[in-house]
Amino acid sequence: MNRDTAARRITELTELLNEHNYNYYVLDNPKISDTEYDGLMQELIKIEEVYPDLVLPDSPSSRVGGAPAAGFETVSHLVPMLSLSNAFGEQDLRDFDRRVRGGLAGGTVEYVVELKIDGLAVSLLYENGFLVRGATRGDGETGEDISRNLKTINSIPLRLRRPLELLEVRGEAYLPKKEFARINREREEAGLPTFANPRNAAAGSLRQLDPRVAASRALDAFLYGIGSVSGINVTGHRQSLEELQELGFKINPNVRAFNDIEQVIDYCREWAEKRHDLPYEIDGMVVKVNDLSLQTELGATSKSPRWAVAYKFPAEEVETVVKNIFVRVGRTGVLTPTALLEPVRVAGSTVSSATLHNIDIVREKDIRIGDHVVIHKAGDVIPEVVRVVRDKRTGKETEFHMPGECPVCRTGVQRVEGEVAVRCPNETCPGREREGLIHFVSRDAMDIEGLGPAVIDQLLSAGLIRDAADLYYLKAEDLLELERMGRKSVENLLNAIEKSKQKDLSQLIFALGIRHIGARTGKILAAQFGSMARLQAAGLDELTAVPEIGPKMAESIVAYFREPVNLKLLDRLKAAGVKLTQETQQTGERPFDGKTFVLTGTMEKYTRKEAETIIESLGGKVSSSVSKKTDFVVAGKEAGSKLDKALALGVTVISETDFEEMSG
Ligand code: NAD
Repeated sequence: MNRDTAARRITELTELLNEHNYNYYVLDNPKISDTEYDGLMQELIKIEEVYPDLVLPDSPSSRVGGAPAAGFETVSHLVPMLSLSNAFGEQDLRDFDRRVRGGLAGGTVEYVVELKIDGLAVSLLYENGFLVRGATRGDGETGEDISRNLKTINSIPLRLRRPLELLEVRGEAYLPKKEFARINREREEAGLPTFANPRNAAAGSLRQLDPRVAASRALDAFLYGIGSVSGINVTGHRQSLEELQELGFKINPNVRAFNDIEQVIDYCREWAEKRHDLPYEIDGMVVKVNDLSLQTELGATSKSPRWAVAYKFPAEEVETVVKNIFVRVGRTGVLTPTALLEPVRVAGSTVSSATLHNIDIVREKDIRIGDHVVIHKAGDVIPEVVRVVRDKRTGKETEFHMPGECPVCRTGVQRVEGEVAVRCPNETCPGREREGLIHFVSRDAMDIEGLGPAVIDQLLSAGLIRDAADLYYLKAEDLLELERMGRKSVENLLNAIEKSKQKDLSQLIFALGIRHIGARTGKILAAQFGSMARLQAAGLDELTAVPEIGPKMAESIVAYFREPVNLKLLDRLKAAGVKLTQETQQTGERPFDGKTFVLTGTMEKYTRKEAETIIESLGGKVSSSVSKKTDFVVAGKEAGSKLDKALALGVTVISETDFEEMSG
C-alpha cells in the first residue's frame, strides 16, 4: 500500500471506528458485530504500524472506550482505567509471552488466567469501609457517576467486611444470559428495540438516570482488580483477588495460575468449549502477569497495560438458509417475524428458527425467503441473523411482507404511531392466549413441570382449556384421551398442577401476565400487599408509592383489574383452591419488636417515610437521635454526624442492603 492510499484509508477507518465507538460506548447500540469491528481495528493498527507518522490525533487505536454521556456527573479516576490489548489466536498468546519475557530481566513468569466476562467495566470507591462512589470506565481518565445504579446490585457490598481507609476496586458488571433473554423478550413484546448483547444490555441498564431500571434487572458483578488501596499490602494479582474476596466482593471462581504459556493456551481452549454452560457470557480469557513488581516493570501504553492480554474467542457464526418467514403472535399481541431455518449447530445447540425482531430489521438487513444467511446467538442464547450472504443470491429469493391481519385470529393488525411493533389488538386472540398460557406455567411463574408448549397445544386443540384457570379443572379421564398421554404422565401432570396451587403469591402475580410486571415486581407487590384482593383494591396513588413501581406499571395493574374477564379468571382460580394470599410471619412476634432505629443519610430505594413505615410495621421504633439505647443506625449515602456518633458509641451501623435483608 503506498503512502497516499494509506493516508486515505487511515482517515476512513479512523472516522468509521470513532463512529462505531460512539454507537457502542455512548449509545449502547452497536451497528456492526464485534468481529467486524475488531477486523476494522486490526486493519487500522496494521497500517498505522507501517506509517506511524500518519496516525491521526483522534485515532481509536490509542484511545480507551468513549466519552462520558451527558446527564451524569463525571468523575476522575484515581488511577486510569485502561483497556486490554487483544489476542485473536493461540499464536498471539505466544507472542504476548515473548514480549513479556523480552521486557523483563529474566526469571520465571507466573500468569494468572481468568474468564473475560462480557459486561461493563466499573470502578467502586470505598472510603473508611463505605462505598462512596461507583463509576463507569468512560474514556479511561473520566467516567460517569453511576453510584445509584450500582448500589442496586446486591452482590456489591455497601460496606467492606473490614474497614480500609481507601480502596478503589475494578470489575465487570454483567447481566446473566437468562436475564438478558428475558429483558429482550419483554422489550420485543413492548415494541422496543432489543439489546444486541448482554454487554450492551448491562450498560444500557446501568447508564440510566432512573435507578429503578437497574433495580428491576438482575444485574450482577465480578470484581477482578485493585486500582488503589491503603491499609493492605499485596504483592501479586492472585493475592489481591483473595483479599477482595475476604473484603466481601464476588470473585469469579475459575481463576488459575500457570508458569508456562502452553498451559495457559490449554486452559483457554478448555473454556472455549465449556463457555456455553456458564450462566453468563464470556467473550474470551484474560491473561495477567501475577507479580505486581513485574507488572510495574512492564508498564503500560496509553491504551492498555503490557502485562495483560485479552484472548478473544473466535465468533461463533454459521451459515444456513432461510426456508420461510412466518409471524409469531406474542402474549401482548406483538407480531414478530421469525425465520424458519435449515437446522444448524451454533454455540452449543441446534437452531431451526431465529427471531427477526420486527419488519424494520428485516428491511434493514434485507433478509428474504430463500437467502443464505450468517447466524449467531446474541448473548449466547438468542439465535439471530447477522447478515445475508448476498453473493449466494440466485434471484429466486422472495421478499417478506407483514400481514395486514393477525395470522391466528384474522383481526386487522395495528401499528402504533412511533412504534416499530405491529400488534393484534384482539384480547381473546387464541394465539395470544396460547402464549399467555405458556407464560403462566413457565419456571418463574407457576412452574408447572411437564406442561410445555406441546402439551398446551394438545390441550387447546382438544378444547380442554382456554385460559389458565381451566388447567385447575382438568380431569384424568379427559387427559387419558390425548395422544401420548399414559396413566403415569397424566398422574404426574395433575400432581404438578395441584402443587402449583401453593406457589408464592409473587409467582401468581407474575404469571397473570400483567403488562410491565416482571418476576421481580411480582415479588415487590406480593410483599407490599400480601393478597390479591388488596392488590386489586389498590389505586394509582397507593401503587406508585411502592418503591420501584412507576406510573406505567401502576396504570397497567389498575387496567388489569378493571377487565371483567380477568376478574372472572381470578374467581375461578380461587374457587379451584389456588392460593391468593401471602403467608406472613405474623406469629405474634415481629422481627423488629423492641428495636430502635436511627436513619441517617439518603437511601437509594426508600424515602425516609417509607423506611419508617417498614420499621414500624415490623415492630420497631424510629428515633431521631443516636444514643447508647439505639440498636441500629441505618447509614445511607452521605451519612453525617449521626453516623460518627454511632461509631463513637459502638452502635451497630448497617447499610441499606443489610436493612433490606433484615426487613425481608
Ligand atoms: P475489551 O472488551 O476487548 O477488553 C477490556 C475489558 O475487558 C476491560 O475493560 C474489562 O471491562 C473487561 N474484562 C472482563 N473480564 C476481565 C477480567 N477478568 N480482567 C480484566 N478485564 C476484564 O476492551 P474494551 O475496550 O472494553 O472494548 C473493545 C471491544 O469492544 C472491541 O474489541 C470490540 O469487540 C467491542 N466494540 C465493538 C463495537 C461495535 O460497534 N460492535 C464498537 C466498539 C467496541
